[in-house]
Amino acid sequence: MYLPFLGREGKIPPFLRRAGRKEDSYNKYWNPYIETLSLKEIREISFRKLQAQLKWLYENNKFYRQLWDKLKISPDDIKTPDDVRRLPIMTRRTGELPQFVQLEAELERLYSLDKESPNYKWQYGDFCTWGDRPELLAQHRQTSGTTGGTPARMGDTMRDWEYAQEGWCIAHWAQGIRPYDMATWFASYGLFIMWVSFYSMEKMGAQMIPAGGMDTKTRINMLTRVPITVLCTTPTYAAYIVDVAEEMGVDLREETSVRIITMAGEPLTQSAKKKIETGWGARAYDTYGSTETGLVWTFECADDYPSGNLHVIEDLMYVEVLDPNTLEPVKPGELGEAVITHLGRSSTPVVRFRTHDLVRVTEEPCKCGRGYARFIGGVLGRSDDMFKVKGTMVFPSLIENVVRKFKEVDEFQVIVEDAPSGVGKVFRLIIDPHPSVSPNTYDELKERIRQQFRTDIYVRPEEVEIVAPGSLPRFEQKAKRITFAKKEK
Ligand SMILES: [Zn+2]
Repeated sequence: MYLPFLGREGKIPPFLRRAGRKEDSYNKYWNPYIETLSLKEIREISFRKLQAQLKWLYENNKFYRQLWDKLKISPDDIKTPDDVRRLPIMTRRTGELPQFVQLEAELERLYSLDKESPNYKWQYGDFCTWGDRPELLAQHRQTSGTTGGTPARMGDTMRDWEYAQEGWCIAHWAQGIRPYDMATWFASYGLFIMWVSFYSMEKMGAQMIPAGGMDTKTRINMLTRVPITVLCTTPTYAAYIVDVAEEMGVDLREETSVRIITMAGEPLTQSAKKKIETGWGARAYDTYGSTETGLVWTFECADDYPSGNLHVIEDLMYVEVLDPNTLEPVKPGELGEAVITHLGRSSTPVVRFRTHDLVRVTEEPCKCGRGYARFIGGVLGRSDDMFKVKGTMVFPSLIENVVRKFKEVDEFQVIVEDAPSGVGKVFRLIIDPHPSVSPNTYDELKERIRQQFRTDIYVRPEEVEIVAPGSLPRFEQKAKRITFAKKEK
């Protein structure tokens, strides 16, 4: 149980300060004891908490006990971080590694919406530690199901909910949110897990204004009348508000008090970050989590802004970074997939859950003084969208970063195909140019794009095609710009 260090020497500061103060007298850290330990010390705590969590799960959770018994693994066998690799990996997707298919099928069954017995499924079967004591559950959440197909459901006890809040408190505090801030969340109150952020800001003592059930124009009008300094929402929506405000003739920079926008639900790309920063005149902070994880366990801090680097809260989440193909650990600086284990969730906890999110870790200390390691540049892509071109690993965010260097490009699509040689892949790039670009310069633009790819990621598209302006689809929600073509026979 953590003590919320709300102020200097643990004193609780006055909650109702005027908004907009530039300097503050609060402690820089939400949990100064943990956050300022060295990375080595944090990892020791993380591993000890993992051992305790595994033991606790073996004694209390039927799903894990049956699984580990079947595999003849005991939590007592996990004596060093190397031993953790004996535990099976969980994933929601099927067909990746044959030895895990059985487990995946079981998880799919437990997570999924069962139309025949919905009441039973809301209790999650054996996967929920409190399957036979549902009265202990306090919160239920569900994913939108857009990425995995079937929505994932999670139930939390009040204590689990507190654990989830702790991750958000560390993140929000590190982004400079304080009790004198007036904060709002732009989303309708629903099954979206990120609502835990609202509760965490409440716990931190910020003044909360719920804004569900309002349309975008009403929300913008509210921001021009109420001195709200902090906004939490998805990057897509924050960028969309910029466009709507422009149509309404509202200058968000001048007419609102928003100074911090903290993102949830989707990764924040550098191009979206720029648009939000410019449109709002506020800082756009990235965070990352998911429904399965139930909390935000990475965050961008104020001192490292705007790098997009994400600190990893390893005392709340046991984090491994593994090669997506071999599932062996990678070294710091190397690209790998984050695999996570809850260190504080009792109800529907994951153990070695594959996030499919690609990251690169740096253990270099951060200016902010926190011991937490960082994911360089945030989440770099999805391991299931990765492909190899002439031995070089390529994924959509790498391609996007190259293409976005060209102001002439409005939208683009990538088509990945098997290489004619039969080894690896090749990709084609389809460019939707800005209407102001003259067709006479298309050939020259194509060549510059190809060269930029060579310089930045050492591989070039097989072909760059330029289509008529406005002919590719635009995305308001999660963008899908990559297509894996099936080989014609
Ligand atoms: Zn930092």
